Amino acid sequence: MAKKDLGSKAYLAQQREILDEALADAGGDTLAVRAGQLRSPEGEHGEAMFLTSSYVFDSAQAAAARFSGDDPGNVYSRYTNPTVRYFQERMAALEGGEAAVATASGMAAILSTCMALLKAGDHVVCSRSVFGTTNALFSKYMSKLGITTTFVTLTDLNNWQAALTPATKMLFLETPSNPLCEVADIGAIARLAHDHGAVLVVDNCFCSPALQKPLSLGADIVVHSATKYLDGQGRCVGGVVVGQQAHMDEVLAFVRTAGPTMSAFNAWVFVKGLETLRLRMDAHCASAQALAEWLTEQPQVEQVYYAGLPSHPGHKLASVQQRGFGGVLSFKVKGGRDAAWACIDATRIFSITANLGDAKSTIVHPATTTHGRLSDSDKAEAGITENLIRVSVGLEDIDDLKADLQRGLHVL
Ligand SMILES: *Cc1c(COP(=O)(O)O)cnc(C)c1O
Repeated sequence: MAKKDLGSKAYLAQQREILDEALADAGGDTLAVRAGQLRSPEGEHGEAMFLTSSYVFDSAQAAAARFSGDDPGNVYSRYTNPTVRYFQERMAALEGGEAAVATASGMAAILSTCMALLKAGDHVVCSRSVFGTTNALFSKYMSKLGITTTFVTLTDLNNWQAALTPATKMLFLETPSNPLCEVADIGAIARLAHDHGAVLVVDNCFCSPALQKPLSLGADIVVHSATKYLDGQGRCVGGVVVGQQAHMDEVLAFVRTAGPTMSAFNAWVFVKGLETLRLRMDAHCASAQALAEWLTEQPQVEQVYYAGLPSHPGHKLASVQQRGFGGVLSFKVKGGRDAAWACIDATRIFSITANLGDAKSTIVHPATTTHGRLSDSDKAEAGITENLIRVSVGLEDIDDLKADLQRGLHVL
């Protein structure tokens, strides 16, 4: 027996066996509540929050084995942490991936994926309609490292095909897009990528695994901003990457070296968020659908963008690819910037913020905030007009949300 045998190893192995057996055929709702939690010898029912930066070893020899990697286990919380592992395993289970790596933010998840899989001379094909900072990461920072990016139209398969070069190693997209809810065919773009020896990375932030599973459609890697729906209550910033073990080994190697690690506290918040994810997403979808339909009937509204509306160009594809249409929609009011701003300012319940995926509904003017850094021609190409308003539908009473937007439309 080791000098200071803490007895935890055999206990954890037993807990692992019990968990794996219990969840072998479990459905998504069960996984969302149960996956990943190994109980400590304290027998806690809720997931424990391991606020510890480092770990102790049974002996000097055991420490050496941990450091060399011969004995897998905790060394330091930049590498692994039990609470972070709960979150990673739960996310891998929900996305249907072999493994997951948690990161300090959604952007850190995307950066870590790029640093793990790309090198100087490689080429990326990326949808033009991605999160603005993702666009900046590729165009401003990856380019510094000799990694070039071609931006294409999300929904135009020919555009994706034409952008491929012998150096293309990664295709990157977000579907449905922000703020116009355009929908990309994940399976078709995955085939393009694979025919070309490249990987497809999908930012699944807007749907979450409750509504869309890109890996099952052919994508190689899923990235998330956990900050949005995974938390669901606007508390913590975090991210996660999910995919095959071999890819995740590379991503973890980068994260533990460069340091964009998720904190145990944030992981605990996200673990608890995942337990209600599906229920929340269903409620977000139902309210967004009702609000979208209601908006189409308002005389001050020029157009509504929500894939749940049969008139939306992405409706059919979203109906087969997604389990629901999501909680984000946008609409154009009659008039220009003044009308959009007046409408936003007249609301009393909607929070004026660019955040989304919160229990609280939010409202924002994309042209001057989230998409404000785009040139006029890029805005025009992306359909970001001055009269466009984006809404993230929260969990308030739908009648109150309608009445609040009615306040906004009423002043026009
Ligand atoms: C917010 C967001 C990100 C970035 O995530 P952070 O957690 O803010 O770093 C990436 N992609 C999408 C689609 C987002 O909405």
